[in-house]
Amino acid sequence: MTKNAHLLESIINITEERDKKILTRSLLEVLSELIHFDLLTFLNKPRRSCGEYLEITASHPRNAFRNIYEPLLHGTTERQVKTDKSMAQCLNKATIVKAATQNGLIRKTYPIIVNNDVMAILDTYGHEHTEYEEKLITSIIRIYSNFVAVVIDNELDTLTGLLNRKTFDSQLSKLLLPDATKPFDDSYNDCRIKNRDIHHWLGVLDIDHFKSINDKFGHIYGDEVLLLFAEQMKKSFRSNDLLFRYGGEEFVVVLTNTTESDAMMVFDQFRQQIESMRFPQVGKVTVSIGVVKAEKQSHTATLLEYADKALYYAKENGRNQVCSYFELIRSGLLEIRKIESAIELF
Ligand code: GH3
Ligand code: MG
Ligand code: MG
Repeated sequence: MTKNAHLLESIINITEERDKKILTRSLLEVLSELIHFDLLTFLNKPRRSCGEYLEITASHPRNAFRNIYEPLLHGTTERQVKTDKSMAQCLNKATIVKAATQNGLIRKTYPIIVNNDVMAILDTYGHEHTEYEEKLITSIIRIYSNFVAVVIDNELDTLTGLLNRKTFDSQLSKLLLPDATKPFDDSYNDCRIKNRDIHHWLGVLDIDHFKSINDKFGHIYGDEVLLLFAEQMKKSFRSNDLLFRYGGEEFVVVLTNTTESDAMMVFDQFRQQIESMRFPQVGKVTVSIGVVKAEKQSHTATLLEYADKALYYAKENGRNQVCSYFELIRSGLLEIRKIESAIELF
């Protein structure tokens, strides 16, 4: 294959993917096929991080990043690393940062700019590249960034910026795959995941009496409530939890890798936060939440059905509360519909 044909092939490879993680991996593969690097690491800026740490989403060669980056103290995984000077400069100034390393290699850190925001950085170690190679690197990064922007726009709800309903099934199914707690490799080392009581928890959040908010104050104020509600979700939940706007005033949150008591506490704290907020014109707003354990290999439709039952119970019994499907079953307040469901549950 000629050089140009090879390059085109690489671009096709990148734009064939719709999954951000695979897309990132193929970016690193394409770059390392075309140009020699000793190490390529892709580090994401987590949603709520103020920049003090970054999350490694891919590296080439795989896992070669160990001993290079300083793990975040108390970080939940070894992939959360402290932001050093080069990374910080790259993030804050949105420019390529070049530095010489002790072993004579060149370190170059490239900003990954999506929708005018540095969403990640690409950290590279290797020998000095030619002008042509340098142009190739920055062009491929731009193709990747433009394409990621399209993928992201397609996944997000336009009003709130949360994940939209369209992505719900695929995102949740990915999380519920049998080996999904080991997203990168076998040595994935998250001590919390080894605890047997750690699970994912799905909550359906539905704003109480939202119709009357629209009726009394108009749709514009209704939309404002949805927007502020979603902003509060982004602040309250962790960066690795999944946040969806599932319908009009209905949201789904998937808390990842946590115990039942912590999950219930987190949902209830969120409920209290909403209750204590004062929304423009509208004033006080409350939310009801139905929660279910999202076990591996569960069907997303079944989980939603159970969470909806708990939500319905919360609505029927005073609203502004969090109800757990399993707790309602345990205490006999809800009945299991079918024998098979019982087998699935216990
Ligand atoms: P409940 O406490 O039982 O949940 O009552 P509710 O009034 O919140 O529930 P219901 O499902 O009856 O009403 C939901 C309302 O949400 C109806 C619809 O007009 C409104 N809605 C749906 N999508 C949007 C939106 O994007 N913007 C605004 N402003 N309103 C919306
Ligand atoms: Mg409602
Ligand atoms: Mg509703």
